[in-house]
Amino acid sequence: MKSWHQLPIEQITTDLRTDIQNGLLPEEVTLRQKQYGFNELAEKDKESLFRKFINQFKDFLVLILLAASVISVLIGEITDAFVIIAIVILNASLGVFQEAKAEKALEALKRMSAPSSKTIRAGNLVMIPSRELIPGDVVILEAGDYIPADIRIVETANLKVEEASLTGESAAVEKDHITLEKDAPLGDRHNIGFMSTIVTYGRGKGIVVTTGMETEIGKIAAMIQSLEEDSTPLQKKLKGFGKLLGGLGLAICAVVFLVGIYNGYRTGSLDFQLVQSMLMISISLAVAAIPEGLPTVVTIVLALGMQRMAKKNAIVKKLHAVETLGSTTIICSDKTGTLTQNQMTVVKVTLGKKSFEITGEGYKPEGDFLVEGTKTGIDTEKDLDLLLLGAALCNDAQLKEPSDTQNWTIIGDPTEGALLTVAAKGGKSKEQFSLYTRIAEIPFDSARKMMTTFHKMTNHQTIAFTKGAPDILLRNCTNILIDGIARPMTEEDSQIIQEGNQNMSSQALRVLAIAYREFDQVPDNLNPSSIEQEMTFIGLLGMIDPARPEAKEAVNLCLSAGIRPIMITGDHPGTALAIAKDLGIATNEQQVLAGQDVNRLSKEQLQKSVKDVTVFARVSPENKMSIIDALRTNGEIVAMTGDGVNDAPALKKAHIGIAMGITGTDVTKEAADMIVSDDNFATIVTAIEEGRVIFANIKKFIFFLLSCNASEVLVIFLAMLLGWPIPLLPIQLLWINLVTDAFPALALGIEKKEPNIMETPPRAPDEPLLSKNMLTMIAVQSIVMAATVLAAFQYGLHTHNNDLAVGRTFAFVTLILSQIICAYSARSEHYSTFKLGFFSNTYLNLGAGLSFLLLLLSIYGPLHLIFKTIEPGTTELFAFILFAPIPFIATEICKFILNTRKTNTSFK
Ligand code: ATP
Repeated sequence: MKSWHQLPIEQITTDLRTDIQNGLLPEEVTLRQKQYGFNELAEKDKESLFRKFINQFKDFLVLILLAASVISVLIGEITDAFVIIAIVILNASLGVFQEAKAEKALEALKRMSAPSSKTIRAGNLVMIPSRELIPGDVVILEAGDYIPADIRIVETANLKVEEASLTGESAAVEKDHITLEKDAPLGDRHNIGFMSTIVTYGRGKGIVVTTGMETEIGKIAAMIQSLEEDSTPLQKKLKGFGKLLGGLGLAICAVVFLVGIYNGYRTGSLDFQLVQSMLMISISLAVAAIPEGLPTVVTIVLALGMQRMAKKNAIVKKLHAVETLGSTTIICSDKTGTLTQNQMTVVKVTLGKKSFEITGEGYKPEGDFLVEGTKTGIDTEKDLDLLLLGAALCNDAQLKEPSDTQNWTIIGDPTEGALLTVAAKGGKSKEQFSLYTRIAEIPFDSARKMMTTFHKMTNHQTIAFTKGAPDILLRNCTNILIDGIARPMTEEDSQIIQEGNQNMSSQALRVLAIAYREFDQVPDNLNPSSIEQEMTFIGLLGMIDPARPEAKEAVNLCLSAGIRPIMITGDHPGTALAIAKDLGIATNEQQVLAGQDVNRLSKEQLQKSVKDVTVFARVSPENKMSIIDALRTNGEIVAMTGDGVNDAPALKKAHIGIAMGITGTDVTKEAADMIVSDDNFATIVTAIEEGRVIFANIKKFIFFLLSCNASEVLVIFLAMLLGWPIPLLPIQLLWINLVTDAFPALALGIEKKEPNIMETPPRAPDEPLLSKNMLTMIAVQSIVMAATVLAAFQYGLHTHNNDLAVGRTFAFVTLILSQIICAYSARSEHYSTFKLGFFSNTYLNLGAGLSFLLLLLSIYGPLHLIFKTIEPGTTELFAFILFAPIPFIATEICKFILNTRKTNTSFK
């Protein structure tokens, strides 16, 4: 095992046959990938299939069924017992299969949200999935990155890393490239970046020395990487609900059994036969009452929903988010890149009283500097020269020349890309930059809103360029550059600059200021508060960042759906308001609050203001926390976006933390519940819509399954009260519940959205699963269904010399058919099936078709021996056709009445 921290960098590059400037070559990459495998930590041992199978039997409802099979054996119904067990095993296998499928879907989603690394390969900077890193790769580290492997640092700019996951030390440690002379414990190896630790500040470059299980973190634990296995509140609710139904079923069984026995005792007819038949009735009731398919269907529907959302660029990391999305009342969104395109172009420059319009498009470095519409020779503009030099030097982006498929593009921050472009338009080419090597820097951070770089000038002086938010930078400038001469800044100068800033901001321009300061040499202590002081102000640059065209529509959709979009941005209040107005988020200044005001307000005051404010500008990450706190206290359900390293706590605090896929850092992606892979606000709104659809669909199949179960219980119960033989055998009920019901239920789970889904206010998170209307509909449907089945049973008996097998066949077929038809009614709580179109859900047609086929199999095929059914003839079929639609018609009439009463308008 090599002590990488004690080896000089040259030896490491020789040993690992790599090059700091160019990284590895493709041939070498292929070879090494074979040799080292993926850069991954071994996953926790997964549950074996057998374990999963056994776990299925821990379910309370399944246990009741097993008990039922034991009782069947005791009373001599051996076939029944076998069939019950076979069906339970089938159900468990299906459960395992579905669980494995859901797990696979989750794993695929996890891969989509896996981190990637900025790597230099064959001289190019490329983003590659971190699992593909190999020893010898050269990677760039920036604030917000998880360090992807163990890395020997070769260059740093104030690189600070938080290593708590490895050393337990929560304060960030400073890293450098200096070779250690002596061995040192992990916490003191300041030239190594360890896998899974977090870059909290600055930048760095390093060589991957070990990957995967060979890394320090890999050595100490086969850890993390396990799937997030949180049950959603709904799943928990349903579990409780299932238990309740099971318990209720058992209680009814017990009562029915005891009442039956007592009656027998009272009338003197108590014998073995009576006990046997009472036990049969009880088992049937238990089987009828338990909605066995419910948990499985919920899991599948959630997993499928997540897959659908991923296709629409919303990667849900945590299951509970699918549900919470449906209740979201507020979306707090970043501006830059989410509501806007993050395609910056500098269009205006001001230097004191002078101002220039800049022409040109995108990042193409061609355009003119116009003064009052006339092209100006910029060679004579000394101040402009220095401004553009500062803009180009205090910059980490790179301009990329056009390829066949793309125009001019940039690598890095679009704000900096725009600055590079305008510098190039002014003749500040790359060659010129190499004259002024960067010798130190203080990186940008969103709390300070400034960035500084130090450069050696040709006169051996050191110059520091600072760029940043004008209002902040201006406060720290004591001088101003006018016509090439620096002089003390006057009140009037400051006034002019502020007006310039205000003016550009109100035109929705993002404004950056540039200043400089001269030093004899780079100060030892690069403390921003002492260095970004006493600067000389040069000028302002204003850039457009057009709103995303689809964001406007998405904002409207939010408003109609009772969701309030709030813009939270680090940008100037003027810029923020101008864009918010354009998008329809705000209409006037009263709706804007600046970060410093958030600090000033008391908790109660803030709580009050967040009711009206829709734009928060110049906010710091801490402000975001206070804003969420206030919104949460007001009872709002908040979705919040974030991208920077400091946004993670706010994302955790929101009900739904949303990270940006493109601009987001690893840390925010890790903290988020959902990742929006195209950074687009409209995607968030689509995800909310999907969340609503999924929840509505879950309600639909719960409605369907419950009314089916309730009708079965009623059939048995009423038959018993009336002193009739039981119309349905336990195995018939089990077959219906586990097999013929399951397919339509699943299809309901993937029903298309109802037309009004985004025209109603968000669902209250504590809203009961089933509304009053739904409960009424369940009651009507199950009562009518039970009555229809009982009528069919009696009809069968009467027309066939009281042959019980025929009567039961009538009950069995009528029940299955009417349930299949009722599935169509369950498609909407509000809309009539005729309005939705009978066959507009293909999956339901397929599910219904499959159930129908299974029904035919169980009466015409060999299965009829097990189900003890009799093959029906044409007259019987005709009777079924008459009986089966009755419950559907009753439900539709009930729906009609409930909806007319509610809306008091015509039926939708
Ligand atoms: P949002 O929060 O909507 O994404 P934002 O991107 O404007 O907004 P920050 O990135 O925190 O938020 O930027 C805040 C301010 O800092 C900007 O308005 C700008 O004035 C300044 N700024 C942004 N990027 C840089 C940079 N690379 N160098 C110097 N200053 C910058």
